[in-house]
Amino acid sequence: MLSLNNKDLLETPIKEFIISSEKVAHVQIGNSAEHALLVLTRTGYSSIPVLDVKYRLQGLLSIKMITEEILGLERIEYDRLHDIKVDDVMNKEVAFLKEKDTFQRALDLVINHAFLCVVDEEGTFIGIMTRRIILKQLKKYIYQTEK
Ligand code: AMP
Repeated sequence: MLSLNNKDLLETPIKEFIISSEKVAHVQIGNSAEHALLVLTRTGYSSIPVLDVKYRLQGLLSIKMITEEILGLERIEYDRLHDIKVDDVMNKEVAFLKEKDTFQRALDLVINHAFLCVVDEEGTFIGIMTRRIILKQLKKYIYQTEK
């Protein structure tokens, strides 16, 4: 049976696996749901981070959160999109990683999340770590260890 050596992958700092903030699509507090829907649809991402003006992580936003808000009894009320702010509909209870966290913590958290935001000591958003990246590293590690 394969056993992961604690000193290896599990204790590796996540820093080297982060997709840096410049490459991550996001919206800002105060942006309209209309703008957010455009960003989500154009990028094709299921969910993106919501940041404040100081680039601190405030929540996550998905298309589902927006459409649920404008779902009327008989129709989807698209005309309301302009007046709804992302802060009204985003999820504020967000699991996140700190840049000094290890691969093991990321592995524990990605079981329930497709990606995790990473913040520095001041809570400033520095990027994301995706389940895809974690699985890729795990696969690489397992195949190397088997040889
Ligand atoms: P992936 O593993 O590439 O399929 O990404 C999983 C999820 O992570 C996506 O559906 C998005 O919610 C988020 N994500 C990945 N890359 C980005 C990015 N560059 N910008 C914003 N969100 C991203």
